[in-house]
Amino acid sequence: MNRIAEATLADGRKIPYVITDNPPRGGMKYTYFAPDRSYVVQFYNDPSKVDRNMTARLEAIIGRYNPTIPESKGGAVGGDEKLAKYFAERFCWPTDLVVAPEIGIVSPAYPKSFFFDEHASKFLELKGKDKKSNWFTSGNRRFLNKSELGDFRSMLQMSLLLSRSIRRLHQAGLAHSDLSNNNVLIDPRSGNCVVIDIDSLVVPGLFPPEVAGTRGYIAPEVLATMELDRNDPRRIVPGSMTDLHALAVLIYEYLFLRHPLMGPKIFSAESAEKDDFLGLGEMALFIEDPKDSSNRPVSLKNTIKDVGPVLEKLFLRAFAEGLHDPPLRPSAMEWEQGLVKTWDMLHKCSNPDCEKKWFVLYDSANPVCPFCGQRIAEKNVVRFELYSEVRGHSGEWKKHSEMDIVNNTPLFKWHTHSNIFADEKADGTMQAYACCHNGEWFVINTHAEGMFSPQGNPVPEGQAIRISDGTVFRASSDPRGMVIKVRII
Ligand SMILES: [Zn+2]
Repeated sequence: MNRIAEATLADGRKIPYVITDNPPRGGMKYTYFAPDRSYVVQFYNDPSKVDRNMTARLEAIIGRYNPTIPESKGGAVGGDEKLAKYFAERFCWPTDLVVAPEIGIVSPAYPKSFFFDEHASKFLELKGKDKKSNWFTSGNRRFLNKSELGDFRSMLQMSLLLSRSIRRLHQAGLAHSDLSNNNVLIDPRSGNCVVIDIDSLVVPGLFPPEVAGTRGYIAPEVLATMELDRNDPRRIVPGSMTDLHALAVLIYEYLFLRHPLMGPKIFSAESAEKDDFLGLGEMALFIEDPKDSSNRPVSLKNTIKDVGPVLEKLFLRAFAEGLHDPPLRPSAMEWEQGLVKTWDMLHKCSNPDCEKKWFVLYDSANPVCPFCGQRIAEKNVVRFELYSEVRGHSGEWKKHSEMDIVNNTPLFKWHTHSNIFADEKADGTMQAYACCHNGEWFVINTHAEGMFSPQGNPVPEGQAIRISDGTVFRASSDPRGMVIKVRII
């Protein structure tokens, strides 16, 4: 029988929740819903573990480290209304501490798009289940209807959003500590993701939570030292370095739909547990390791090469150089920047049956979709090389990045200014766009200030310049404005 109960919050307010017989239960907590399901009230499975340190940590997470409320309202330093709103969609961040009937937390309910609806599967009853990542990155995919699966572009977008969320945590000195496929919900249809189970965050100055971690996402050094005594200084506990391992695993899974370390190699014939313990811990080996192919599956249709040189390098740092050397792992910001650069190299596959629909065109001499083998339909690839002036060296330019252009490709401030990065703070107003008309290419200025034609004439808003192979034009006369060189390949 369901009945309404009341939770008392730390500030004295009382809120209702519905007690059910078998509340959903995770590793740490169980969950009751609000009568209107707009929030959840969660209590701990083992209340004896709730101590003063834990409540102090929850208070810090809900208050001064909270990026989902503006600094002016007691949230994280540097956050305004706009940023708070942005991150409120990226995290399911606890809103209140419950003090009675026992210690617990209140969190917003996940947005509807992160629950399966009745159209999700022909084979399973999934309606109402939350969209944990591994529904989409494991063999479970085969149970889902095609409309749920998204495409390569939406997986790349989720990788980018997740990197940004983790970068935000790390910037504040926080670490998630239990990042895994269970704690990130994804919606490949829209390319959105949300990080959940925020209450296990590692907060500066307070004792970290005792998190066991999740198989496949625990960093090798944590697994390898797990059996040491709690007070042994060699024991490594979860923190931002170990988040970076989990983040790289999730990105690899989103883009390749497989785990980066689970290959055919047998690490111990003694038992499956020992094999797992070594193969994901002390002896972990990247399935695409460039020097040691002993864990490489026989058939690897697509590899890290197929997602372009920027991501290839990051994956090598995460899983070859940095697998057992945590400081070498790419930071969340490096992933974010690499994914933004890769986004600009995406091409739509012209094969209507291509499952991935988009691919990274890294080899312009061989413009083929690596997923289905389709050669690109466009006659030529139009590529913009973006150059920025070296600071303090007037007239000296270095390549900033590249982007591929199709009809109506927009240029944003992060394409026209070298000091603007495509993050949550960036101005998303289109500055210009490229278009193809009767076989000729043009760039139309919509908002860029100080755009100049190849001949050095000002190009005011609403005016266009014609471009062809070798054209060089100034996107903005700002000191940090980019110069763009056009290549038609
Ligand atoms: Zn294709």
